[in-house]
Amino acid sequence: MRLSTLTSLTSDAANDIDRDDFDNRLLQHRFACDVVIITLFKTCEMDICIDFDGTCVTHEFPKIGRDIGAAPILKALVAKGHRLILFTMRSDLDPAFQARSTHPEIVGDTGTYLTDALNWFHSNKIPLWGIQTNPLQARWTKSPKAYGHMYIDDAALGCPLVRPAQGRPFVDWGKVGKELEERGLI
Ligand SMILES: [Mg+2]
Repeated sequence: MRLSTLTSLTSDAANDIDRDDFDNRLLQHRFACDVVIITLFKTCEMDICIDFDGTCVTHEFPKIGRDIGAAPILKALVAKGHRLILFTMRSDLDPAFQARSTHPEIVGDTGTYLTDALNWFHSNKIPLWGIQTNPLQARWTKSPKAYGHMYIDDAALGCPLVRPAQGRPFVDWGKVGKELEERGLI
């Protein structure tokens, strides 16, 4: 008996059906769904949002930080067909901009901070599909959050980090690369 038929039966008729048979069919159905979902997850090309400072390089804002091994992994993702979106608080600030914060981490001086990050991708030959936003999301949302299937960000809970003796933690690309491999994404 088909599961769709089974679920449409009245309670009296359902009582006539062997309970074990029903449970077995339900388990098979669920297993089949899980296989489809896992297969899709492992093979689909993803939109992946990437933070910059502390993620692609060490934290040295407003400068560009040191290499931490991000470039080969990002290239591998692109080679697998995934689309990278730079998702960073960096922006180019013109002289007309006036920062309204005295927070020590916030630099309100004029500078090409976003362009500097874009140049890092360019010099490392890593193509970006989007900058600060998913190019297709305006078709279905007005949200300012960049849409991605995955986010790699040193500030994200659970992101593997290297914790140097001095300075801020940064993404552990050795561990991230291994996890991406295990998921079949690179
Ligand atoms: Mg960061």
